[in-house]
Amino acid sequence: MRQVTTVSELRKLIGQARQAGQRIGFVPTMGALHEGHASLIRAARRETDFVVVSIFVNPTQFGPNEDYQRYPRTPQADALLCQREGVDLIFAPTVEEMYPPGYCTWVEVTGLQDVLCGRSRPGHFRGVATVVLKLFHLVQPDIAYFGQKDAQQARIIRQLVRDLNVPVKIRVCPIVREPDGLAMSSRNAYLSPEQRRQATVLYRALCAAKELVEQGERHAERVRQHMVRLIEATPGAVLDYAEIMDPETLQPVREIQQPVLAALAVRIGPARLIDNMTLTPPGS
Ligand code: AMP
Repeated sequence: MRQVTTVSELRKLIGQARQAGQRIGFVPTMGALHEGHASLIRAARRETDFVVVSIFVNPTQFGPNEDYQRYPRTPQADALLCQREGVDLIFAPTVEEMYPPGYCTWVEVTGLQDVLCGRSRPGHFRGVATVVLKLFHLVQPDIAYFGQKDAQQARIIRQLVRDLNVPVKIRVCPIVREPDGLAMSSRNAYLSPEQRRQATVLYRALCAAKELVEQGERHAERVRQHMVRLIEATPGAVLDYAEIMDPETLQPVREIQQPVLAALAVRIGPARLIDNMTLTPPGS
């Protein structure tokens, strides 16, 4: 496994892989790697010949009062996980390498970027779309792997690739969870033992919503309210949003007639956690 920090080293190694006719798989991450990331790497290994993982805590996707400074950084453990999972190349650039002085070009996926997490985190998806497009240009992957954990991000990347004719296939892999259902996240490290127990409310609320829909409830607002009540009944949990939406448009639905996406963002102490689940009405 190689690890590089500069664009020029990356370009050289990518050039060699392409020259050798290898298919390139790409997993963009912010590091503090866990089993969720490992599942994307395994999917890349199954489908491609040369697996590249980027590790970059992207400052432009954090708001001024967010957790950029304290975001967990675990480079040694990350390298071990990548080695164990058979990654070929880690790209871990500095901020200056990605955003040299005078940098001023931004990518926006209008509409999709303004709802859900985009409403609570203005500018977040502009930072995400910009860094992902830059990374696509640098790595030139055949297939890039994202997690359904960040459903809005995955939807935005699909749109970006379609709209700007980026020649990459996007794969979205299932959410990897802890045994008690909590979606794995680098931010779970912020939780105290008590907050960690409270954090299971996201999964419990989503499962309760799924069950209601499977029992025939079609009225989205009633399902949504049920999730809200469960979260509000949890000490220490502060709801950011609970939505039931069309997975394509990310717009709220009234009647659940087809599979919909239930999505939550909840603050538990110092962590803002997100999770989602597809709710499928019987017979659809
Ligand atoms: P991050 O390092 O948090 O920016 O995540 C990098 C990629 O890993 C994104 O595509 C995430 O959606 C994905 N990811 C993060 N957590 C999980 C998880 N629990 N299950 C599956 N994919 C995940």
